[in-house]
Amino acid sequence: MLTRYGATRDELAELLADQPRYRVDQVWDALWRRRVPLDDATELPATLRTRLGDALPLALSPVVEATSDDELTTKWLWATRTGAEVEAVLMRWASRASVCVSSQAGCAMACTFCATGQAGFERHLDTPEIIEQVLRAQHASPQRVTNVVYMGMGEPLANYDAVRDSIVQIRDRLGISARRITVSTVGVVPGMRRLATEALPVTLAVSLHAPDDVLRRQLVPLTDRYPIAEILDAAAEVAGAQGRRVTFEYAAIRGVNDSPAQAEALGRLLGSWPGVGGAHVNLIPLNPTAGFPGQASPRRHLHEFALRLRAYGVTATVRRTRGAEIDAACGQLRRRTLTPVEHPASSRMEPCANTSS
Ligand code: SAH
Repeated sequence: MLTRYGATRDELAELLADQPRYRVDQVWDALWRRRVPLDDATELPATLRTRLGDALPLALSPVVEATSDDELTTKWLWATRTGAEVEAVLMRWASRASVCVSSQAGCAMACTFCATGQAGFERHLDTPEIIEQVLRAQHASPQRVTNVVYMGMGEPLANYDAVRDSIVQIRDRLGISARRITVSTVGVVPGMRRLATEALPVTLAVSLHAPDDVLRRQLVPLTDRYPIAEILDAAAEVAGAQGRRVTFEYAAIRGVNDSPAQAEALGRLLGSWPGVGGAHVNLIPLNPTAGFPGQASPRRHLHEFALRLRAYGVTATVRRTRGAEIDAACGQLRRRTLTPVEHPASSRMEPCANTSS
């Protein structure tokens, strides 16, 4: 089924075969360069807009939308045409605006502390469904979207082709350079190695969460398949190939992975990591979820953890939260909507609606 952001230029030209030739450029320009909703492309005759709207329907319909009090963070839950639900978050700052997109409906990786992992896998999103999240967020944003992060629902490298194609189109059609695109993976080593072969200098984020395999296995079941040593090896390959510093994400869980000894172990592990630019650790206070008993590490504690990492030459930041009142945890809005009693409005914040400090 052809959708608005799935149609190629040739397909668009075919739809506009009875129109003056310049119309193709005009429509393409409105959709991709000016990034306006079709209805706002008033340079097109109203009848043509209606016709195109029917021929090229949107892939996503709104289910829930929430905006933070400062209006800088907006989160959407959309339904795809098959009924699968996906989430995205728009975060704005003075000089940039970032959209956090989902790459799958649900996730098969089953990380124990992650709301999406707890809910299980539904299906891969296709390229237009991924890209439309960026465009729909852009339509709601007074600022131009400058960055895209694949940190919403799903494991991007488990849906490799659709994600790669979406990155290429975000670069080529929207003009957002690969350097402003971040792909976050739980450590799907074959996907990481494949990424290293692409001429696509995206930033890689690796969700590490533990300094050793024994602990990591309890949080990230995929550790059984790909141990930390292999993940670090593949991450170094990506860093070398893309010339980009890799970020290691670490969801800090009180009394589980946040002790001084664990900070030392992580510092030793990453201080000697050979990747280009060295390791950068982003400490994320755990966002509590219904299916996992852990709590966030206290912030003061995280700053101490960061200091210990820095002693090993590892760059470390503690993620700042924003828009807390909309509970923008990826996977959380959906769960809360589906099971409102189990998930009362939380004042906690989430992985992707946060920023490093
Ligand atoms: N599957 C990818 C991307 C999705 S999640 C990945 O694992 O990297 C984006 C980030 O949010 C990951 O680092 C993930 O581990 C983290 N995350 C998920 N649930 C979280 C929670 N409850 N609290 C804090 N961080 C969480």
